[in-house]
Amino acid sequence: MSKSDDENLRPATKLVQGGRRPEWTGDPRLGGSVVNPPVWRASTILYDNIADLEARGHATHDKLYYGRRGTPTVWALADALTGMEAGAAGTLLYPSGVAANSAGLLALLAPGDHLLMVDSAYEPTRAFCDGLLARYGVTTSYYDPLIGAAIADLITPQTKLIFLESPGSLTFEVQDIPAITRVARDRGVLTMLDNTWATPLLFPALAHGVDVTMMSLTKYVGGHSDAMMGSLTATKAMWPRLRSAAYQLGQAVSPDDCALMLRGLRTLDVRMQRHGENGMAVANWLAARPEVGRVLHPGREGDPGHAIWSRDFGGTSGLFGFTLSGAAAAARTRFIDALSLFGIGFSWGGYESLVVPSNPIRTATPRNDPDPLVRLSIGLEDPVDLIADLEKGFGAMTAP
Ligand SMILES: *Cc1c(COP(=O)(O)O)cnc(C)c1O
Repeated sequence: MSKSDDENLRPATKLVQGGRRPEWTGDPRLGGSVVNPPVWRASTILYDNIADLEARGHATHDKLYYGRRGTPTVWALADALTGMEAGAAGTLLYPSGVAANSAGLLALLAPGDHLLMVDSAYEPTRAFCDGLLARYGVTTSYYDPLIGAAIADLITPQTKLIFLESPGSLTFEVQDIPAITRVARDRGVLTMLDNTWATPLLFPALAHGVDVTMMSLTKYVGGHSDAMMGSLTATKAMWPRLRSAAYQLGQAVSPDDCALMLRGLRTLDVRMQRHGENGMAVANWLAARPEVGRVLHPGREGDPGHAIWSRDFGGTSGLFGFTLSGAAAAARTRFIDALSLFGIGFSWGGYESLVVPSNPIRTATPRNDPDPLVRLSIGLEDPVDLIADLEKGFGAMTAP
């Protein structure tokens, strides 16, 4: 029991208290405790005697058994993440966000099953569906992210899972998640959400009817661009299935990386607020520029996803996109190459701003906007400096 088990605590308080159980932060023989759960590195666990070994062989969770099953550092992170989702029974940790998504899909689907996958899903999620999942006899249909309750028309007797990601990767469409989860529950279909953009701070997934919620902790939870990890947090009904699959697949994470993730988690609330504010400042400035076609940011009024975002989300993160009106791809390259405060790089959610050219893949809902797309991850710099940098980029774009 940690203080974060108190359901009445606000999210920011839970981030601070989460996972700091007395049995993970102190030892009664030492007469005190430390603030952070120490890093317990282990492969071998030692037993007192054979009776002890036999007894613990039957324990499945939160008992030292073998390194792959985790140590208190790992459990502390999982516990803190579970505490962030009302209605969650537990969290499993994976070596990356992609590993978490793949493990969740494998755990929830079987040969002959049909999966409804959102067309705006993260590209490696699509690759897993079209690759290994297809080879193992699961068929995937991609659906329009804006489908809402009409998803009912796509459900067949074989449909077992609807996968959501909102806002969508690269194009930031906002899904009507409550409408979709209502249909899914009525029809006995499971739902899984990639909640990396919002985190439970901005969108508590299970409270909106989702059965399994995933995060790439690599992004905002880690927050410092120096560690990779993924998580699945599940309802009581789904938790045993996910845990059993994770054990069979041998998914394990490093306690050192868990300590980094725990450190990031403590400041997630303040960082998200600043990422959101800075991102809005930059997005609003971009929207007024003549070089910009569309700004893809659901936090802005007039964005097609703004109404549903305002209804369901508690704020915005710092990741969004924009198009360069009537520009050639080479102009986009000149724009990006001229930036100096924005690093050119994949991933996002760190304290430093990043930029990448993006080229979305869509099969259910073809994009008919030919303008080149840019994705920005707005960090914790002063937006005045970021805007000056972007202005330099526009100058280089129009140069011969
Ligand atoms: C980055 C990302 C992932 C994958 O996470 P990794 O930790 O990089 O494997 C999954 N989903 C979304 C939306 C992402 O942006």
